[in-house]
Amino acid sequence: MERRLTKLLVANRGEIALRIIRSARLFGLKTVAVYSAADAKSAHVGAADEAILIGPAEAAKSYLDIAAIIAAAKHSGADAIHPGYGFLSERPEFAQAAADAQIVFVGPRPEVMAALGDKVAARRIAVAAGVPVVPGIEAAEISATREYAALVGYPLVIKAAAGGGGRGMRVVAEAAQLESALGAAAREAAAAFGDGRIFVEKYLAHPRHIEIQFLGDNHGAVVALGERDCSIQRRHQKIIEESPAPGLTDQMRAKIIGAALKLARAAHYTNAGTAEFLVEGDDFYFLEVNARLQVEHPVTEMRFGCDLVCEQLRIASGGKAPEPAAPRGAAIECRINAEDPEHDFRPATGTVLHLSVPGGPGVRFDSHLARGAEVTPWYDGLLGKLVCYGANREEARVRLVNALGEFALLGVTNNAAYLRDIVASGQFRDAKLSTHFIDSFFSGWEIGKSEIDAAIVAAAITAGGAMGDIPSDGPALPAGAERRSPWDDLKNFELWGSRR
Ligand code: ADP
Repeated sequence: MERRLTKLLVANRGEIALRIIRSARLFGLKTVAVYSAADAKSAHVGAADEAILIGPAEAAKSYLDIAAIIAAAKHSGADAIHPGYGFLSERPEFAQAAADAQIVFVGPRPEVMAALGDKVAARRIAVAAGVPVVPGIEAAEISATREYAALVGYPLVIKAAAGGGGRGMRVVAEAAQLESALGAAAREAAAAFGDGRIFVEKYLAHPRHIEIQFLGDNHGAVVALGERDCSIQRRHQKIIEESPAPGLTDQMRAKIIGAALKLARAAHYTNAGTAEFLVEGDDFYFLEVNARLQVEHPVTEMRFGCDLVCEQLRIASGGKAPEPAAPRGAAIECRINAEDPEHDFRPATGTVLHLSVPGGPGVRFDSHLARGAEVTPWYDGLLGKLVCYGANREEARVRLVNALGEFALLGVTNNAAYLRDIVASGQFRDAKLSTHFIDSFFSGWEIGKSEIDAAIVAAAITAGGAMGDIPSDGPALPAGAERRSPWDDLKNFELWGSRR
């Protein structure tokens, strides 16, 4: 069962590609990056031993092109593929294509991925394993669904069996909306995922999102590496994650971990995975399994002092899952995104004109950003993950507030000031956590004066330095448009300046 790996192709981009390349190197592997035409100058391309252009900017023709990636792996002589997260990471066809090409896929087997990737099938596996699920029903028949809805009561949430990433979810407040919502959800699901199957769940009023990291090996062992609380979400998408989950009793933790392990064993799971749960009061309910490495895995690494990508590589080469060490302290991560929190979080693009990266003990910044880097509209807007460790939650939290204060990025509008206000708030300090945290406390957020001043100072430093070495060949401009002064890219600076 042992297979000595030599060369890893990383089928991803951005911060996660870079993070995987680092661990692969530590594990003694040569690395191959793949990239689209839009990413020719990206950090992961320069970081790998080899890099192969796989297609144009459109993800469908590059990072989602299974044939192109398998061809790149064969061409480079890679004997393993790590899919990262997003893109092809949870596509059984990709894992199968790798297996067909005699290439080790760093992740679960295709059939396991297929069973768990379908939310309805995953719920069935959970029920069969004796794991509680959110009360719900497969919404094939409208009359049966209506009856069930009347029984469990509103609000309800409609989900796509093939959905993910917060997409394809629809909350229904009352009976009158049910029928049209079901129709619309099924149509949307068919269009977005090529699979119109939907199901309905009770929409819990004040849940917390708590998930369990686990690792399964090919020798039958499955181990858990604690929990992460990912309750701080915007529109059902995580923005701040932490471990341990504040206030979770040891008894409750043990129950949820036990359920996750039961499920992973029932699914014959191998490699890294995460079981997600909603927790409300003394009850917990299985949501889904993410059959891959997750964005927020560093909080677990910081508490357990491990490298999950190395563990994935060890398991993929036939090694055993680790005996987890006892966790220590607390870790909190926030996701810095290219988006405008003052304008409904609309996606932002641009060229990085200035970047100050926080540092010091217990501070980790996983990012592909560098001065001159371009943030294009082609891919998701995750710019980096700032993760702080502390002997306890409060130390980790204060470190994160300070680190976010040190973080300065000009040229790409981002949510760092927003995150800092959240992490600095009394509500976050007091761990008033639920998935409605943002709606309850931060719905009408506006940037504070301190951030305006800090940004102006940072802009002044940049302007006083070498503005001249900003790359001149930035993102392509629409036909007829003129390249403007770099100051035009300092959107917030202009905006804030005009407000003072
Ligand atoms: P996705 O796979 O699209 O991320 P999930 O099922 O994992 O969808 O849910 C994402 C988030 O949506 C959860 O963390 C939670 O905040 C919210 N959510 C999902 N299902 C429910 C539910 N039944 N009740 C309340 N909130 C829910």
